[in-house]
Amino acid sequence: YQAKRDRTGVEVYESKRDSNTPDRLGLLGDLRRALDAHEVELHYQPKVRFDGQVAGLEALVRWVHPERGKVPPDEFIAIAESSGLMPHLTEYVLETALGQVAEWRSQGLFVPVAVNVSPRDVHTPGFAGSVAARLARHGVPAGALQLEITEHVLLEDPQRAADTLAGLTGHGVKMSLDDFGTGYSSLVHLRRLPVSELKIDRSFVARLAVDAEDAEIVRCTVDLAHSLGLLVVAEGVEDDETWERLRDLGCDAVQGWLVAAAMPPEETTAWLRARGSRGWQRPAAALPAAA
Ligand code: C2E
Ligand code: MG
Ligand code: MG
Ligand code: MG
Repeated sequence: YQAKRDRTGVEVYESKRDSNTPDRLGLLGDLRRALDAHEVELHYQPKVRFDGQVAGLEALVRWVHPERGKVPPDEFIAIAESSGLMPHLTEYVLETALGQVAEWRSQGLFVPVAVNVSPRDVHTPGFAGSVAARLARHGVPAGALQLEITEHVLLEDPQRAADTLAGLTGHGVKMSLDDFGTGYSSLVHLRRLPVSELKIDRSFVARLAVDAEDAEIVRCTVDLAHSLGLLVVAEGVEDDETWERLRDLGCDAVQGWLVAAAMPPEETTAWLRARGSRGWQRPAAALPAAA
């Protein structure tokens, strides 16, 4: 395999160079072992409202391979999905995230956490019931968990997917529609999926401040989502100008490096504590107004 070093000096596994089967199999075996050894970690990225209030955290999986360095989630999730390991990975992520939510709650930090689930999970028989059982086991109310899904859940057996999602929302779990606008977004999906939040994909947000068409797409998406009673979160907000444009377009919350990248649990705890009830403040907004 090939590896390069990122800015922090940690090796980053380069996926494109070795899509050959033996290597994928090797990586799959390593992932299975890493899950058993609890070497896979979750980092947490805040979703904040425009008044600075923390709306929640998204759990994002992180794996540092002992020899290859950081393996990007997109890469090993694809492998887990095509190999049958996905349900195991999702159980691991849910278990870890709910344990963390319970710990935060015991410290007086009542912050909801969103977990990404793959179409495979939604099609696993008994998924809704197993999520409910896990919540109960951790003593975490369903309202403190959100599941991020994509429209891909409807690709195969849409009726079964709809039943599972109805089961989850019936238990009180909130659903969010991730990466909206990519792939084959359709209004039919919005009507069929019992989601309460829509996340506008980073690809539309990134150039919002400089590209009039992207801005128009975001405006229409926000209006559509609001007319359906959904909250709108923009992904990948990296600068002040984008933040301001999104606020002006009526978006409800943002996520992105402007606020914070995904952080390890201890750092997230410190981040949450430091904000307290005041919420997150934009560096620019925190400056005294020019005289
Ligand atoms: P996603 O759910 O759409 O997550 C957003 C991705 O954008 C994350 O990448 C996040 O680190 C990154 N991001 C956040 N803010 C910014 C920003 O301001 N600029 C830029 N350039 N990027 C930003 P990450 O962590 O590499 O995850 C990639 C994808 O892998 C996720 O996309 C999600 O689809 C999947 N994934 C991550 N964790 C899990 C998991 O536990 N289970 C499943 N099934 N999928 C996961
Ligand atoms: Mg997500
Ligand atoms: Mg997303
Ligand atoms: Mg995305």
